[in-house]
Amino acid sequence: MTLRRIIPILALLVLLSLTACDAQEEKQPPPDKAEGLRSAVTAEAILHHARLFEVAAEANGGNRAAGTSGYNASAEYVADQLRKAGYTVDVQPFEAPYYEELLPAKLEVVAPDKRPYQEGEDFSTLQFSGSGAVVAPVRAVDLGEPGDSSSGCERSDFQRLVRGEVALLRRGSCPFEEKALQAEEAGASAVVIFNDGGEGQTGILKGGTLGGPGISIPVVGASFDVGEDLANLVEDGREAAVRVAASTVSENRRTTNVIAETKSGDEDGTVVVGAHLDSVSEGPGINDNGSGSATILEIARQMSELGIKPRKKVRFAFWGAEELGMLGSKHYVERLSEGEVDEIGAYLNFDMLGSPNYVRFVYDGSSGPFGSGNVEEVFMDYFASQNLEARTDSTLEDRSDHGPFAEEGVPVGGLFTGAEGTKTKEEATLFGGEAGEPHDPCYHEACDTVENLNPRALDEMSDAAAHATLVLADEE
Ligand SMILES: [Zn+2]
Repeated sequence: MTLRRIIPILALLVLLSLTACDAQEEKQPPPDKAEGLRSAVTAEAILHHARLFEVAAEANGGNRAAGTSGYNASAEYVADQLRKAGYTVDVQPFEAPYYEELLPAKLEVVAPDKRPYQEGEDFSTLQFSGSGAVVAPVRAVDLGEPGDSSSGCERSDFQRLVRGEVALLRRGSCPFEEKALQAEEAGASAVVIFNDGGEGQTGILKGGTLGGPGISIPVVGASFDVGEDLANLVEDGREAAVRVAASTVSENRRTTNVIAETKSGDEDGTVVVGAHLDSVSEGPGINDNGSGSATILEIARQMSELGIKPRKKVRFAFWGAEELGMLGSKHYVERLSEGEVDEIGAYLNFDMLGSPNYVRFVYDGSSGPFGSGNVEEVFMDYFASQNLEARTDSTLEDRSDHGPFAEEGVPVGGLFTGAEGTKTKEEATLFGGEAGEPHDPCYHEACDTVENLNPRALDEMSDAAAHATLVLADEE
């Protein structure tokens, strides 16, 4: 390089660095485009939606579980609100298992002596049990030993069972549904599966499930003591008969996801904003997750109201049947083509935003399946800008509808104000509230009503949700 060339280049560099300095001195903070949306999204409006979810639950015996009229009314309300705000709404149907116990179940010995057992203590219905009321002899089916029983796992185990008898089975070797199905096919009129009897395996089969609808006869899970009692009766060779009764609804029902997206914006990099709309059957599910649903509904309404058109599309998704294992979001993701998955720039999940004894948890972007994208950073920066303490939490990995998206490699993130977990001293120092008390004492309970919501949590979290939605959708 010659001197003649160097001089002009040096001059240019000096000039460039001067302009850079000037630009830096004059640099203003970037305009906060999300401010308008944040102030338009109010806790009052979110509480209003939440109240209507509660009304939907009240009209349905107190819950909004998948497959119920309470869920359907919630979905209709959301779809109606979105249409009124100018969105084209896509209601995506899918099947979800539905189970309900209509009456208390019965298990009792009727011969040789009458001996009732207590539901909840001695036995309980297995989830997805069929219905019926039978009085019939008991047949012990290849009971085996504690820790070594394949009772009822094979067809041949039932050789001695006479059609119409009640099959007595021991837990072990194969799933409950396999045992129950074999028994039903062999002609049993009801099934009693008792606990193994090994260490820690003596109580009733609490939480025991047949996995889904399909068994039409009553199936109860019993304690080891009850099993032994019945087995001894049979061994005595006396005429032993039991009464088994269960009154259930066990079937697949149609439920839905409700989806709407902005008309404008680039498909590539679409931001999907999701919340589950169903509750558990134990209560109305207003914090879990009326809070998240009401929040994203209000964000969708206000974006339309204010005419906000981010660079990329924003798609709002209200998932059905999350409480049954994220069935709605799984169904949705399974039906996306590879190209459609690739177009999603980020998935934001909002599941519980109004916990009464709340924390400000942001899904941890550095852990497990969240390890891509900048969603965590957008939330953390926002809270910092508002002087609000927030903490990343890595324990939420697959607890909600972000799971199916993360599995496909979509960058995910979200907010969470706490569920059944207990508030620690450190959390109380950071976020206020009561240490030693649950974040939400009404989690999955009948008391998860509008009363259970913390309006301040809703206000802070909905602003953060609105902010992240817009910032991510407006990224280059
Ligand atoms: Zn939830």
